[in-house]
Amino acid sequence: MLDIGLVGLGTIARAQHLPAIAANPGMQLAAIASRNARLDGVASYPDLPSLLTAEPAIAAISLCTPPQGRFDLAMAALQAGRHLMLEKPPGATLSEIGALRDAAQARGLTLFATWHSREAAAVGAARAWLSGKTLRSVTIEWREDVRKWHPGQEWIWKAGGLGVFDPGINALSILTALVPDVVLLRADLHIPQGRETPIAADLHLSAQGVPITATFDWRLAKDEIWRIRFETDQGTLMLDDGGAQASIDGTVLHSGENREYTRLYARFAQLVAAGQSDVDLAPLRLVADAFLIGTHHSTHPFTP
Ligand code: NAP
Repeated sequence: MLDIGLVGLGTIARAQHLPAIAANPGMQLAAIASRNARLDGVASYPDLPSLLTAEPAIAAISLCTPPQGRFDLAMAALQAGRHLMLEKPPGATLSEIGALRDAAQARGLTLFATWHSREAAAVGAARAWLSGKTLRSVTIEWREDVRKWHPGQEWIWKAGGLGVFDPGINALSILTALVPDVVLLRADLHIPQGRETPIAADLHLSAQGVPITATFDWRLAKDEIWRIRFETDQGTLMLDDGGAQASIDGTVLHSGENREYTRLYARFAQLVAAGQSDVDLAPLRLVADAFLIGTHHSTHPFTP
């Protein structure tokens, strides 16, 4: 039985992590660390250091806090000898994740930097269908209403919070899982006056000469669009609903229910059992590149 300590009882911890841990017969939620929350029947601590001191038998920690400040928590968990699972993005910077990877490796611990969208129902079918075909272009459209999906979340507007790249990185995680050698060519970042992160972004990328465009936009007032379109020499693959459905030239190839976090925790257990880590920085590297070379455009102030 793998005992898990969960840190940060926010939106995603409650919606996905708690049910996924509960559904896994090989693990149990042994404790939480939260500035605000308590859970009946589960040891609850105000912060991670208190949890680590009081619970030496908890073998693994799962961090569900925002990316800013995650590094100190992650390093504390590893230095206390615990396996570690990170929400996406794995950190606020690339360098801190390198340091975490080294710390985990030096201690023989598992570090799992998760990308939940890669576990969406139709991503595997999309990978299989694309195999052996010649890719001609990729078009990513990732639009949602920030007021619907991130109510009250101030951290997303602060440096390191990624802004619209918080959802956009999910698209990039699918893209980089299906298409090798993606590089960023150009980016336009639209940043509301008075905020530190973009509300929209337009990217031009390339994979061995195959053109890729991505539009991320938080200003959609109706139903979200989370779509990637792959044009190939043998037809068009559309991944919709964040990777939950794949269709070929309009005919559904595969669709399924959301089991992303069930699969992530199953994988975490496998990695711990095998003494391995899984840290792929490709999606975050593209986002970092967009912040490195992107042209900043000031847009209307955002009111929540
Ligand atoms: P959230 O609702 O704001 O929750 C984050 C939680 O982290 C807070 O409730 C708080 O929990 C804790 N926390 C610790 N330090 C904090 C700080 N300085 N500011 C704010 N919260 C702090 O965020 P979330 O949507 O769950 O996102 C957390 C992470 O999961 C992000 O990296 C995000 O990209 C990722 N994620 C989110 C979604 C989604 O749909 N929301 C989906 C997939 C992944 P306590 O009060 O318990 O301490």
